[in-house]
Amino acid sequence: MKNILINDGLSQSGKQKLIQYGFEIIDQKINPENLIEFINTNNICAILVRSSTEIRKQIIDSCPSIKLIGRGGVGLDNIDVDYAKKKGIDVINTPTASSKSVSELVFAHLFSLSRFLFHSNRTMPLEGDFNFKTLKSNYSEGIELGGKTIGIIGFGKIGQEVAKIACGLRMKVIFYDKYITNVNIEFQFDDDNQFNIKLVKSSFSTLIQTADFITIHVPKQDKPLIKKTELSKMKKNVIIINTSRGGIIDEADLVDALNKRTVGFAGLDVYENEPKPSMGILMNEYISLSPHIGASTHEAQDRIGIELANQINKIING
Ligand code: NAD
Repeated sequence: MKNILINDGLSQSGKQKLIQYGFEIIDQKINPENLIEFINTNNICAILVRSSTEIRKQIIDSCPSIKLIGRGGVGLDNIDVDYAKKKGIDVINTPTASSKSVSELVFAHLFSLSRFLFHSNRTMPLEGDFNFKTLKSNYSEGIELGGKTIGIIGFGKIGQEVAKIACGLRMKVIFYDKYITNVNIEFQFDDDNQFNIKLVKSSFSTLIQTADFITIHVPKQDKPLIKKTELSKMKKNVIIINTSRGGIIDEADLVDALNKRTVGFAGLDVYENEPKPSMGILMNEYISLSPHIGASTHEAQDRIGIELANQINKIING
């Protein structure tokens, strides 16, 4: 029997596919301290995780039945990938499945911030019935996204999806990437119509000085890309979005720039200290907040489940 442990959940569609492929699935969250015993008792051949389960050397060494580790999502920082591969274990993930969902969340934050929705949703229930005119006046200086410049830092899968939406809104798109220089953004429509836009990399300093909105899509970094120095060079009232990884923007410097009203607003999905973001960030009135939900849509989770099931079938069933 080919037993698969689904430790951090999987979409219904992914589970059905695995069953169709002849796997026995165990959809259960096993605590870290019981994981080794559970895997060995149940002769688990593949374990599927998201970001909350760590698969380190000790588990790899103690569980000889494991042939595959699957990560639903992008980042593999919770798995000792090189060590697993050295031991002949396949490690797979689903790098493209959530790009559309994350890029849409960027615009959810941008639209919310540019029209103060993140704020009016807090004040309207409290004051809307007696203070309507004041609130109307407080939120009357919104801005349009169309015609503004969006600067995208990190122009991989998600960065390019952001660019597509931005083009549709008639924004000017500039990008900076450490490795990518020229990109052909392809628009494919249902009626087979297609067109391309060619974009060329800007320098990092041009981007931070000229963009009205800055959104970050790089992998986890050892040190912040955006600190006091970079924040001080940005346009006054710039809006910054981070849906990539906590720590890429220095949070203390960001709060300082927001409070001094040099940076206009920020939209954050990821935090330096997850799952306990700092109170300074959580209570700041210029930040639109979401709890790391970039990939949390039905569509992305379906794609993740089905992609994982197909890859597992190919590797284990051949
Ligand atoms: P990707 O690998 O396709 O693109 C990342 C890009 O960043 C690459 O083009 C790379 O060249 C560039 N890059 C790396 N270091 C850089 C640097 N220092 N400066 C400039 N560019 C740099 O990855 P992706 O799929 O686009 O994902 C981007 C980020 O989004 C990842 O950190 C990922 O973990 C995160 N993510 C978050 C969520 C969420 O729930 N919020 C969901 C999925 C992915």
